[in-house]
Amino acid sequence: MNGWSPDKTWREECGVFAAYGVPRAAEIVGLGLHALQHRGQESTGIVSCDPLGEFHSHKGLGLVSDVYDEAALSRLTGTLAIGHNRYSTTGSLTLENTQPLRVVYRAGALALAHNGNLVNARELRRNLEEAGSIFQTTLDTEILLHLMALSSASSPDAALVEAARQVRGAWSLVLLAPGRVIAFRDPHGFRPLCIGRLGEGWVVASETCALDLVGAAELRAVAPGELVSFGADGMKTSRPIEAETPLRQCIFEHIYFSRPDSRVFGEGVDRVRRRIGHRLAQEQPAEADLVIAVPDSSNSIALGYSEESGLRYELGLIRNHYVGRTFIQPHQAGRDSSVRIKFNPVREVLEGQRVVVVDDSIVRGTTSKKLVRLMRRAGAKEVHFRVGSPPVTHPCFYGIDTPSRRELVGAVKSVEQIRAYLEVDSLGYLSLEGLLACEREPAHFCRACFTGSYPVAVDPTADKLAMEKLRAVTPPAAR
Ligand code: AMP
Repeated sequence: MNGWSPDKTWREECGVFAAYGVPRAAEIVGLGLHALQHRGQESTGIVSCDPLGEFHSHKGLGLVSDVYDEAALSRLTGTLAIGHNRYSTTGSLTLENTQPLRVVYRAGALALAHNGNLVNARELRRNLEEAGSIFQTTLDTEILLHLMALSSASSPDAALVEAARQVRGAWSLVLLAPGRVIAFRDPHGFRPLCIGRLGEGWVVASETCALDLVGAAELRAVAPGELVSFGADGMKTSRPIEAETPLRQCIFEHIYFSRPDSRVFGEGVDRVRRRIGHRLAQEQPAEADLVIAVPDSSNSIALGYSEESGLRYELGLIRNHYVGRTFIQPHQAGRDSSVRIKFNPVREVLEGQRVVVVDDSIVRGTTSKKLVRLMRRAGAKEVHFRVGSPPVTHPCFYGIDTPSRRELVGAVKSVEQIRAYLEVDSLGYLSLEGLLACEREPAHFCRACFTGSYPVAVDPTADKLAMEKLRAVTPPAAR
């Protein structure tokens, strides 16, 4: 099952959490992962380290609440632990591929949990395999462990730095070694990672909403290129890799991926989304009676649209919270059928009304098309679709799962063609300029999914999957 092929996808959307010097660390990590469930729903794992330096782990496929129970967590003894929630793509949903990855190398045990995507993974893996490395998973994360094992450095911190110097791309990771927890973020700062203080100990999380849930006080973000090491000597920080200028923080974290109650890249996500909504209302006004959101990811943007336009905000679609995000399912069939499982229109709100429906993004367009049909069936007289980001025209190679170009509706259809495809009365996207104006430091954001201008080069000749994802499409203008 795990036979590697260069076509296998390793794309990762994930959440990581770590605790150092915290009583019953695994329970805290379990709580933290619960708050990060939106970042990955297919598998989850926790590895703890007890006072003797022994590692204990528990992993499973499914949601945090399904995988851990009291008995499982109580076996994960120790005051140090790391955990991971994972989203996987077709073919790679296996227990072996569930992080944290745990290994024993010459200098002892290690466990690694990684959020991001390494763009030179295939090349590195090929070289390592040719030199005799045996891989246990299809994850790019495992490459870091092999590179660490090859390093002659004496400490896990130094071995990790040596490994990190050989990879390119996005990583926000936490590493567990006996008596030590390390947090490290790539020099571009693609994915978030923050530090909190909990009692006498520390926690590290993908998003601050996880710090809130465990009752930790937010200290700060791990800076791009910074390595933070927690051990008996306390919290030590170093900058082994110089931060890039400008940074390439993922703008999609602000648009869609992070929770609105988190502070990500130094900003409250809700605040950024409100500004997006304001700007969208200015750029794309609509003659309508009310505004609704595609819940939950678009709630803050739709509220912003309502505030700016003066159109009243209504709850016209109700989301069933007991199903996962529609997009975070590996198969197209699952995605399609789950739109109906996930959303139900409120007839009393929509009937006879001219409705502005706000979504954060359109990727394939399949969700929006089905939603529009549901709303029409519930009696909406007019549907004006407004999107809080520009058309997604290019796949992401830095940790957001996006399909290949030919599946991106924004890459193959013009806005008017998308309007017709969605069967809406009007369609309006936020401009890239408008989106960037909603950020305090617009220069420090990656926007490759809207422009195709990739800040860390992807080499399609070394990577068949990348080649497939980037395969040319007939651009809308030429149609
Ligand atoms: P689509 O049917 O592909 O156009 O799906 C668009 C919907 O998926 C939007 O409502 C977004 O909220 C959500 N979405 C956008 N990007 C992602 C992503 N990378 N992962 C999961 N969901 C996403």
